[in-house]
Amino acid sequence: MRHDVTPEIQKTEEQWKTELGPERYHILREAGTEAPFTGSLLNVRDDGTYVCGACGSELFTSDAKFESHCGWPSFTRPEQQQNVRLLDDHAFGMHRTEVRCKRCDSHLGHVFDDGPGPDGTRFCINSRSLDFKPSESA
Ligand code: FE
Repeated sequence: MRHDVTPEIQKTEEQWKTELGPERYHILREAGTEAPFTGSLLNVRDDGTYVCGACGSELFTSDAKFESHCGWPSFTRPEQQQNVRLLDDHAFGMHRTEVRCKRCDSHLGHVFDDGPGPDGTRFCINSRSLDFKPSESA
């Protein structure tokens, strides 16, 4: 993975591999994509926060989650723009915009411009790049 900025959290790839396990390592650190409709967070409807699966940074909230029928958890926007980083991605002969966690530079997914919200963005994010923290019930 190419580092053109210095992320706050830096670990060796060996450390990441050990911590994340092979499946999450492939997605988070090698910019892999999980097969559609296979992620455990796809159909989560509960209130809560979606944090980075590698470093725990708060990335998305349930308020922004919507059903996109694309097979990956989809959000209209990140909770804080400053917690994600967008990069041009020319892999596979396509031009897409990659979404990474700002704090640890791990791969999350891609952002597209066909979202339903006022910003028009659809953040299409791998379940395996996220952990879900349910809200404390009142
Ligand atoms: Fe992270």
